[in-house]
Amino acid sequence: MSPQESGQRGLPETLPDPMPIDVVDNHVHLDITREGDEPFDVAEAVRRARAVGVTRLVQVGCDLDGIRFTMDAIERHTAIVGAIALHPNEVPRLAAAGRLEDAYGEVERCAAHERIRAIGETGLDYFRTGPEGVPVQQDGFRWHIDLAKRLGKALQIHDRDAHDDVLRILDEEGAPEHTVLHCFSGDLAMARECAERGYYLSFAGTVTFKNARALRDALTAIPLDRVLVETDAPYLAPSPHRGATNASFLVPVTLRAMAAVLTVDVPTLCRAVSDNSERVYGPWDAERIGQSA
Ligand SMILES: [Zn+2]
Repeated sequence: MSPQESGQRGLPETLPDPMPIDVVDNHVHLDITREGDEPFDVAEAVRRARAVGVTRLVQVGCDLDGIRFTMDAIERHTAIVGAIALHPNEVPRLAAAGRLEDAYGEVERCAAHERIRAIGETGLDYFRTGPEGVPVQQDGFRWHIDLAKRLGKALQIHDRDAHDDVLRILDEEGAPEHTVLHCFSGDLAMARECAERGYYLSFAGTVTFKNARALRDALTAIPLDRVLVETDAPYLAPSPHRGATNASFLVPVTLRAMAAVLTVDVPTLCRAVSDNSERVYGPWDAERIGQSA
């Protein structure tokens, strides 16, 4: 099946050239379907990603349905490990419905699974949630930070229009050992703040957008051992596919653009992304998981 036959809009007709060294998509939502699309066929999405050297995925479930989907996906596919949390826009909704405590209970039970490797995406979103939701959202962020530390998992952060408060709350709570700002959207100064604290920055297709000069400057400000790449699929397809349904097989487009910004060769960046991902999330491979246990 070609990408275009997959029922997702605007995808390129052919797959990009494969990566010379296998890499990881650090953040994908295989459970989310954009309006007008067919749902992802998970096995097909994994196969197509693998065909271009994207051999490992972090599937992110950030509402209760997405978490249940993720628990199933990690059992079926050795290429997939999971991240789960209640999204910062989901926390105020659940609180208003009186269902937040029960939902926390389910997150905590599921997060104990060996193939759930990160708590996320959690964080702050001042774009979608208005001022009335901020206190409960901040409490939710603190709860997820504490959970990640108690379980010894990585933390994946969603930060939309909330850079200062994200950094402040991480400082106040104490960040987990492996803290990732997913779909990094800050500028050079923010990137430097993160680098000082040893956080990982994960770059999505947005780094390829024409008007994303500040983001490309930010990329150059962090050490290579803190750089990650992701799709955030089905959202944020890289140029020249902007607006199309995104998928993990488009990671090579973003990664090649990042290598050009960093003026490193593509194999060097592939190796860095692969090593950094396994440092943050642990190994994917079933046999190696057995050996390291
Ligand atoms: Zn996401």
